[in-house]
Amino acid sequence: MTDTYMAGAVTPGRAADFRKGAAFVDGRMVPIEQATISVLDWGFLHSDATYDVAHVWNGRFFRLRDHLARFTRGMERLRLSIPHDAAGIENILRRCVRATGLTNAYVEMICTRGVPPSGSRDPRECANRFLAFAVPFIWVANPEQRKRGLRLRVSHVQRIAPGAVDPTVKNYHWLDLVAGLFEAYDAGDETVVLVDADGHITEGPGFNVFAVVDGALVTPAAGVLEGVTRRTIIEIAQELGIPTRLRPLGASEPRSAAEVFISSTAGGIMPIGMVDGVALETSGMGPVTRKIADRYWALHEDPRYCIAV
Ligand SMILES: *Cc1c(COP(=O)(O)O)cnc(C)c1O
Repeated sequence: MTDTYMAGAVTPGRAADFRKGAAFVDGRMVPIEQATISVLDWGFLHSDATYDVAHVWNGRFFRLRDHLARFTRGMERLRLSIPHDAAGIENILRRCVRATGLTNAYVEMICTRGVPPSGSRDPRECANRFLAFAVPFIWVANPEQRKRGLRLRVSHVQRIAPGAVDPTVKNYHWLDLVAGLFEAYDAGDETVVLVDADGHITEGPGFNVFAVVDGALVTPAAGVLEGVTRRTIIEIAQELGIPTRLRPLGASEPRSAAEVFISSTAGGIMPIGMVDGVALETSGMGPVTRKIADRYWALHEDPRYCIAV
């Protein structure tokens, strides 16, 4: 799979290296290092943007239509619009992946508010910008962490309130998540989940969280991004007859849970081995996590969920 790019508007004669990634910006396909936008774009200046991330595994997009539906809904909620419909975006994403020749890829689509006319502060006057890129597959956890389980900290930092920024619209309001990460690192941990105003667990930097409590799978019902991985896990649990509760998850519950794991398109299902410095009963993947993870990866071969690049 080399040189399989169908990059359309690539400048002829340029020694382009698309293997590290390909990006579609302002109507052109460019190598990832050359993908840039204006510093005046409100996506950069105000985090005024929405995005989505899908992945390609063994040459196939997983649940791409669900990612596109979430992205389209996010744009509507933020009153952003672009000249591409879902089919048009899908086509651009395919072109990005093909340009790289990658069989396992992390594929991001972004819509920013764009740049207003000089002097304007009116978001209605901005020309919204669409961009997309494909890079090699990204994992939230490295191989060693995936084997032994991540060390997780339940942060004191509150996740930005759902009444302020709608958490179901995928967004770049990450100052809370990054503050939480530093708190975790300072405590010798590797990743973090934040709490809400009532002290219940929400989510972490780019992932949802699950705990196995009294034989049931528990994940926060609300106040989180409704992950495509999270939804897949809930569906798998139903299919496997694992009782599932969407309910508030107390800040101290993971510490005494039988199993804890996190879920993200960037790596799938990844186990937690330690919470707040306390080792869980099961280090690495516990039996429930393992069953769900095996099924999750098996679905990556299932034509109901996959479309070829
Ligand atoms: C993307 C993301 C997730 C995970 O969603 P997936 O669709 O499973 O990748 C969870 N929380 C936040 C804050 C996210 O940005």
